Amino acid sequence: MTPAIAKAILVIGAVSWFIIRWPHQRRSWKTKTRLDQRSTREKVLLTCSFTGLGIIPFFYVISGRPRFADYTFQPILAYLGAAVFVASLWLFYRVHRELGRNWSDSLEVREQHALVTDGLYRYVRHPMYSAFFMWAVAQALLLPNWIAGLSGLVGFGTLFLFRVGKEEEMMLNSFGDEYRAYMKRTARLIPGIY
Ligand code: SAH
Repeated sequence: MTPAIAKAILVIGAVSWFIIRWPHQRRSWKTKTRLDQRSTREKVLLTCSFTGLGIIPFFYVISGRPRFADYTFQPILAYLGAAVFVASLWLFYRVHRELGRNWSDSLEVREQHALVTDGLYRYVRHPMYSAFFMWAVAQALLLPNWIAGLSGLVGFGTLFLFRVGKEEEMMLNSFGDEYRAYMKRTARLIPGIY
């Protein structure tokens, strides 16, 4: 494992994620929405996440900057990062299939929205966000740079922090007691912990 291979793994992981998401993204544009909460606030949050998981690490991969934030590359951390990224891609694949037409990249309730509580949703309410956090952890392990490595956790963490409460509120408004009961028996991101 070398720093160049670690960078390549991050790029391949990001491209794989895009390939997994693309058919769902296309279908999502065609699926009718009953309630759209895609506010300016949501757009700012999506931009934070895209900057941290996409723009900053991409800039680092192609330019090696900012150099002052570099630290010594540890192959063992990069191997671990590769494993975490593979696991996150598997989660993305499953979660997209399980959410199906109910999925959207923002806060929306579809015209025929079904509450999903099976599969990975039996264990946590936000397995897709768990997968994004795993991607962000993989980025931190793969890139030996304090800024480019940690920007994913900061960017996606910001989106999560400011979105998750709103999303649960929206689901409560749409599904009432069904979602309340679902909240009681599930964790947000990590089964049994949080
Ligand atoms: N927070 C979830 C879903 C992310 S996609 C996760 O991390 O897995 C965001 C959209 O998913 C929201 O617009 C919401 O309408 C929908 N959603 C969230 N939880 C859902 C569930 N349990 N069943 C069906 N749709 C859900």
